[in-house]
Amino acid sequence: MNNINTNYSFKTIDDAINYLIKYNHLTNYFINNKEDTFRALRNITMPYDLSYEYYELQDNLLQNQLSKKIITKQNNFPEGISLWLGDITTLEVDTIVNACNNQLLGCFTPLHNCIDNAIHSWAGLQVRRDLIKVMKEQNHLEETGQAKITKGYNLPSQYILHTVGPIVSNEVTKQNEKDLESCYLSCLNLCEKHQLTSIAFCSISTGIYGYPIEKASKVAIKAVKTYFILNPNSKIKKVIFNVFSKRDYDIYYNNLK
Ligand code: ADP
Repeated sequence: MNNINTNYSFKTIDDAINYLIKYNHLTNYFINNKEDTFRALRNITMPYDLSYEYYELQDNLLQNQLSKKIITKQNNFPEGISLWLGDITTLEVDTIVNACNNQLLGCFTPLHNCIDNAIHSWAGLQVRRDLIKVMKEQNHLEETGQAKITKGYNLPSQYILHTVGPIVSNEVTKQNEKDLESCYLSCLNLCEKHQLTSIAFCSISTGIYGYPIEKASKVAIKAVKTYFILNPNSKIKKVIFNVFSKRDYDIYYNNLK
């Protein structure tokens, strides 16, 4: 597969699109515009053996897009706990947290608006490639409340922690609460293990997984605060609660007071 013949010079977004169309054995693929088409193709691709040239071109294209975005750096945050409203893929911290599903390979729905899709899309296909290896080695679905680490590749953040949040069906159960708390603790423990000092949590499970944000934010805040009480010598200096809407910001703000 990685011997796809690229007779043309391999430099433009059209080249990347054509490469992924062939790689996926498609004849045609187009959604909205070239950027969306390239993103959607990344979303559906299983990167078993993409060529070095593909990754090089993809990284150039993603870095070019990144250079047009406003990046928020970790120096903007004080030590301790902060609240920040914005797109997590524009944060430059040691690690961001991704809310993923138990297959751990990112969202395959083209252009879907979940955080898993955004993070994989802007980081690049290396993340899915690395997680395929992790899943092969582990040989079972990722358990709820656990977390795995990958590099951030084309994101401003160095690393991504991928954690599986609980799915809430009707009422929030004690087990849901325990599992959500476990997501936060697993990520903080991974941070400690890899000597990362700044972490931005998204609001895990509060989107498609249906955990009401009023309750989830309380669990998140309590888990993080308790962690630092129990670990006074922690090397983690900055914890950012990242929200994606003004409504969610207000809820966290009130619960943090
Ligand atoms: P889950 O399946 O865990 O519910 P979702 O992706 O549906 O995951 O949503 C988790 C949270 O992430 C939601 O609060 C959603 O608003 C938020 N979110 C979605 N996209 C982004 C993004 N690009 N940056 C930060 N937060 C995001």
